[in-house]
Amino acid sequence: MEIGFLGGAGTVTGSKFLVHHDNTRILIDCGMFQGLKELRLLNWADLPFNAKDIDAVILTHAHLDHCGALPLLVKKGFKGPIYCTEATRELAKIILLDSAKIQEEDAEYANKKGFSKHYPALALYTVEDVEKTLPLFQTQKLHDQFEVGSLKVELYNAGHILGASSALVSNGSKSIYFSGDLGRNNDPLMWPPEPPQDCDYLVMESTYGNRDHSTIPSKEILKECILEIAKSKGVLLIPSFAVGRAQNLVYEIVELKRAGEVPAQIPVFFNSPMAEDVSGLYEDHATGHRLGPGQFAEVMSEVHIVKTAEESKALNRSPGPMIIIAASGMLTGGRVLHHLKAFAPDPKNILLLAGFQSPGTRGWSLLNGSQDVKVHGMYVDIHCKVVPSDSFSAHADRKDLLNWIKTADQRPGKVFLVHGESTAADELRRRIQDQLKLDVEIPKMNQIIGL
Ligand SMILES: [Zn+2]
Repeated sequence: MEIGFLGGAGTVTGSKFLVHHDNTRILIDCGMFQGLKELRLLNWADLPFNAKDIDAVILTHAHLDHCGALPLLVKKGFKGPIYCTEATRELAKIILLDSAKIQEEDAEYANKKGFSKHYPALALYTVEDVEKTLPLFQTQKLHDQFEVGSLKVELYNAGHILGASSALVSNGSKSIYFSGDLGRNNDPLMWPPEPPQDCDYLVMESTYGNRDHSTIPSKEILKECILEIAKSKGVLLIPSFAVGRAQNLVYEIVELKRAGEVPAQIPVFFNSPMAEDVSGLYEDHATGHRLGPGQFAEVMSEVHIVKTAEESKALNRSPGPMIIIAASGMLTGGRVLHHLKAFAPDPKNILLLAGFQSPGTRGWSLLNGSQDVKVHGMYVDIHCKVVPSDSFSAHADRKDLLNWIKTADQRPGKVFLVHGESTAADELRRRIQDQLKLDVEIPKMNQIIGL
C-alpha cells in the first residue's frame, strides 16, 4: 500500500491523498487550492495521476479546500462513486454550485471591467460541470464498513462541521486513519470528534499545530464588537464561510440578543443566497449537532437572509448599526468584497476576522496589518477597526490535537502531518515526538510514501 500526498501537504488547502493498493486507487478528498497565487495556479495544472484510474473518492467534509476540485476530476474523466455522509453530500451540493457560480460571476465581472491579466478570464469550472459531478455522490453512514476494490473504508465523526468525518482505510493487514479536519471539544454547535481508531498510520491535520486558541470565548468577542457598533452606529462586517462558521456566528449573536446582552433591535444580515438551504440541513440532520429539532429554525427566524445581488448592494447604502455576515471567509471572492469596499474606509465600522486566513489571501494581509488591500483591481483603504480572533475556529488547536491522539485506545505506529503550514506542522511534529514518543513525518507535496 502507498499514499500519495497530492495536496494539503505543507499547506492547508487542496487536500488530496491517493491511496494505492494492488489495483485499487482511492482519493481521500479532492480539494481546491486557495490563497497564494502559486497555489491557486495548481488548480489549473494537470493532475499528477490519471482521473480515469481512480476507483472512488472518499470525501471527509464539504469545505471547498476538501471538495472544491471534484468537478475538475470529473471533467478529466473520473466516473466512480464519491462516498461521504448524507449531510456532507447535501452541503457539498450547495457549496459546489455556489463555488461554480462565484467563479462564473467573477470571470464575467473581470471581463466586463477588463482588470484581469488574462483575457478572457475563465471560470475554473461551471455550474454545468458541477451538475455532472453531483450524481456520483453515494452516502454512507458513520461506522458502516464498505468496500472499494481491495480496500475497506469506515467513516467516523470528526466534529468539524455538519457531516464532517474521519476515514479509516484498510487493506486487511495495514490500516490508515485520515483525520480530515478535526473540530473542537467545546464547539457551540458540533459534537466533539471521535477518538482515532486503531491504525498503523495516522494522517492528521495540523492547521493549528503551533498555536492554542485564545481562551476568550467567541461570544465575548462578538458582544464587545456589537456593543461598539451600537454606540458608533457602525457596521460589523464578518467575512465567513457560508457553511459552519456562519451558523455558529448567527447562533451566538441570537443568543446574546435573547439574553439582553446586546441591543435586540440591531439587524443581522446573513448575506448568502444559500443560507436558507444550509439552515434547512441543520434541521434535517438534527442528530449531527447539539441543538434539538426546530431550535435552529427558530434562531434563523431572527436574522434577515439576503438573497439577491440587488438586496446585497442596497445594504451598502443602509445606515448602521447593523451586522453583516458574508462569504468568503478569507475575502478571496464573493459578496463580502463589495461590503469591504463600502465599509472598510470608515473608522466607525469593524471588520471581524473570525476564521483561519491562508497566506496570500486578503484576510491574511489584513490580519498582518495591511493598510490597504486590492479589490477588483483597485486599492481599498482600511480605516475600520480590524479585530482578528481565533476563538471562532472550527479546528482543534495544538492542545486539542495532542489530546486527541491520547484518546486513542492504541497509539498509531506512525503519524503523517498534513493540512498545515510548515511552521505549524513542524511544531506539532516536535510535540508529538517529545510527549507521545511517536514516529512523525511531514510529507512534501506530491511525495509518494510506501507503507
Ligand atoms: Zn474544513
